[in-house]
Amino acid sequence: MVNNKKYVYFFGNKIAEGNGDLKNLLGGKGAGLAEMTRIGLPVPGGFTITTEVCNLFFKNNNRYPDGLEEQVERNLKNLEKIVGKKLGDPEDPLLVSVRSGAPISMPGMMETILNLGLNDASVQGLAKKTQNERFAYDAYRRFILMYSSTAKNIEREKFDTIFEDTKNTKTRSRLGIAADKKVADTDLNTEELKDIVEQFKTVYKNELGEDFPQDPMKQLWGAIDAVFHSWMGEKAVKYREVEKISNIYGTAVNVVQMVFGNMGETSGTGVCFTRDPNTGENVFYGDYLVNAQGEDVVAGIRTPMKLDELHNKNAVLYDQLVNVRKKLEHHYRDMQDLEFTVEDNKLYMLQCRSGKRSPKASFVIAYDLVQEGLISKEEAVERIKPNDIEGIFYPIIDPSQKEQLKEFYIGHGIDAVPGAATGKVVFSAKRAEELAAEKEKVILVRKETSPEDVGGMHVAQGILTATGGKTSHAAVVARGWGKCCIVGCGVLEIDYDKKQFTIGKHTIKEGDEITLDGSHGYIYKTTLKLCVPELPQSYYEIMKWADEIRKINVKTNADSPEDAEAARKLGAEGIGLCRTEHMFFGSEERIMAIQEMIVADSMEERKNALAKLLPFQTEDFKGIFTSMNHYPVTIRLIDPPLHEFAPQTPEQQKKLADKLNISVEKIAARVHQLKETNPMLGHRGCRLAVTYPEILEMQVTAIITAACECSKNGIEVHPEIMIPLIIDIKEFHLLENKVRTVADEILKQNNVSIAYKVGTMIEIPRAALLADEIAEYAEFFSFGTNDLTQMTLGMSRDDSGKFLPEYIDEKKAAIFHDDPFQSIDQKGVGALVKMAVQKGRSTRPDINLGVCGEHGGESVSVKFFASIGLNYVSCSPLRVPIARLAAAQYEIEKKRLRKS
Ligand code: PEP
Ligand code: MG
Repeated sequence: MVNNKKYVYFFGNKIAEGNGDLKNLLGGKGAGLAEMTRIGLPVPGGFTITTEVCNLFFKNNNRYPDGLEEQVERNLKNLEKIVGKKLGDPEDPLLVSVRSGAPISMPGMMETILNLGLNDASVQGLAKKTQNERFAYDAYRRFILMYSSTAKNIEREKFDTIFEDTKNTKTRSRLGIAADKKVADTDLNTEELKDIVEQFKTVYKNELGEDFPQDPMKQLWGAIDAVFHSWMGEKAVKYREVEKISNIYGTAVNVVQMVFGNMGETSGTGVCFTRDPNTGENVFYGDYLVNAQGEDVVAGIRTPMKLDELHNKNAVLYDQLVNVRKKLEHHYRDMQDLEFTVEDNKLYMLQCRSGKRSPKASFVIAYDLVQEGLISKEEAVERIKPNDIEGIFYPIIDPSQKEQLKEFYIGHGIDAVPGAATGKVVFSAKRAEELAAEKEKVILVRKETSPEDVGGMHVAQGILTATGGKTSHAAVVARGWGKCCIVGCGVLEIDYDKKQFTIGKHTIKEGDEITLDGSHGYIYKTTLKLCVPELPQSYYEIMKWADEIRKINVKTNADSPEDAEAARKLGAEGIGLCRTEHMFFGSEERIMAIQEMIVADSMEERKNALAKLLPFQTEDFKGIFTSMNHYPVTIRLIDPPLHEFAPQTPEQQKKLADKLNISVEKIAARVHQLKETNPMLGHRGCRLAVTYPEILEMQVTAIITAACECSKNGIEVHPEIMIPLIIDIKEFHLLENKVRTVADEILKQNNVSIAYKVGTMIEIPRAALLADEIAEYAEFFSFGTNDLTQMTLGMSRDDSGKFLPEYIDEKKAAIFHDDPFQSIDQKGVGALVKMAVQKGRSTRPDINLGVCGEHGGESVSVKFFASIGLNYVSCSPLRVPIARLAAAQYEIEKKRLRKS
């Protein structure tokens, strides 16, 4: 059967079969070359083998689809025709480059082979034609090296040694270069290069038992094979995993006529961006290297000249480039990253793609493009990625140290909270606080964190844990503060006694300095320089546009007046979750009071202890109401199991015993009694209020007293009291009654009228199933999607880091596209939320519905919540802008879908 499928797309002579829209099929590079050819830019001829071939190649056990061979041969003939040269011609050979090019840029992850078509005969033809024998043999040695190492996996080092040896012996003595001076590659003469070529061919023969291929077609297929294989190479697979690139076919292969930037002083090669990729400024930005091939620029061996300098040296060429810049920016309506080569004063464009840019530059460029009339405000909003927003606020490792990173890297964990931090390693919260008091910067390293570590976490610059996932205690708390945090670092072995940790062969002791890169989860054994990008005005403008477009509200999860204040500045429209238990850890006095409450024997003793906490909570609520003046504040009653607050170590137990004047044994016994096998499913949430209503009473008293005082001071308060972990209407009704009794009494005493609301979290599947019943009494629902995910999937949010990666890995189980604790599992948990929304509204049409789990700050989830009709999302302060933007992007996407 004849296969008519088109696998190869030609471009050349101002005509291209492909175009810029075919990125998925032709890869970024192939689509760019086709489009540049179409719009009349000077592009060398060539053809692109599609990504579909890559996919079929791996599906069919490394076999190409029928018809490919014939299509490649036909396109090669076409290329030979338009160039007027033949591959392998001993008189005047056509040479080609064979390059990878995936639909999404994967810089440096896959292979490239240049100068293909050279052999013992054609190298002489090239030498004659160019009248430059040295150039021809230099090209041949580069080709043998690239082909042998990439297509045939011969160790590159074997060739490098020969090259360096020749330079350091023959060339050095011929030119009389002193032993302490470097010999440059350009110092090698023709004879030496010829000798290197022979030695390279011998290595090839020794390694593979056959001669270096002289047949150019054999070379071509060897190179095409190599590029396709590199798609599944270790580094490319890892890159896709880290960058979460999935759902793409594979790489394309581009076979392009070689043009030479290394043919003397009138030739060169360059890389440029149509705007500054770091600052976003509208300036032409790039480097040009005279007499060099592209790889020389990337390798950074020689220092290139800036484009400004090129302006002075070769104004004609510079002006040509400026024209290309203008044409491409207008054509693509975005900043472009360009590669070009100049062969004997003739400019050739080799690549154009949308340029990678810093978070700050993303905002500046999108805003400027609107001002220049190239894109609409909506397009500008759509161009900002969640990572741009994260990156714009958090400190980062100063990009000038990029080169050093490899040297200091020791391992990585899960990137729980972005940003970077440096400091001295400490292994206990106590030590963290001691050193921080001495103005030292510390990194808290723990197997896992518990609420008791909160003080240490707060003073630390960053947190590193061996266990846990992105919604573990450490991650949730650190995220709330915008503090760099890496969790689930499985290779981290901590020896608390020796006060040291090891990762592989590296041992780090207490006091040693490390740097965490929370944006990638990387750990470095040194102090790296950090920098905080400055917020550009364009950020505020684009966020204003986003706010005008979005429909759902964005609130914040905050439990201190400072966080509330910070969240307001970031655009939060109220508090969607105030975790009151976090307030118990603000000071030694608070911890002691809560611990006293926990070990209490009688209700009387418990009430006494609670009375000590009352003023603290009242003050905190006053601060929060004040910073959220006129916005709603949802306050959740105590949620975690009590044992989390209990004194765990013998020293802590002794301290409490001394304070309360009771025996350590009694305290130890009570702590033991509180231990649960499965605390996440145990005595927590509203179950605590059912057993100990006095805790509820104290908390409601604090909330309403604070509300009354604020109201008297002219602050507009909208308290919403939220009961966690509800499973049944009777349970809710019982507690709601208690809340209302206490609240109404305080309002009466204060003679103040405040319209407070009482509602619940929906975080257990049973509550979602019975949402219509619960809505009879609940005035609002807030979906606690952390617990709802945990309980729906039956996967612990703290321990799933151990196996969940396999569920996401594209080469393993691939059950989830993303971590369901990060991005809502729309099919399962999402369906429960959607159902509860409908049920809730069926009973109470005006019920206020929101989400306060970690998903509330994740862009894809926010779009989902907007699509099912929630009124708001709530997330940690630094994620508020992400949610604002995602909510606007959802509306833009919806509008576009409606139109199409
Ligand atoms: C939740 O479960 O989604 C939630 C917000 O509560 P917490 O994370 O405090 O359990
Ligand atoms: Mg919860």
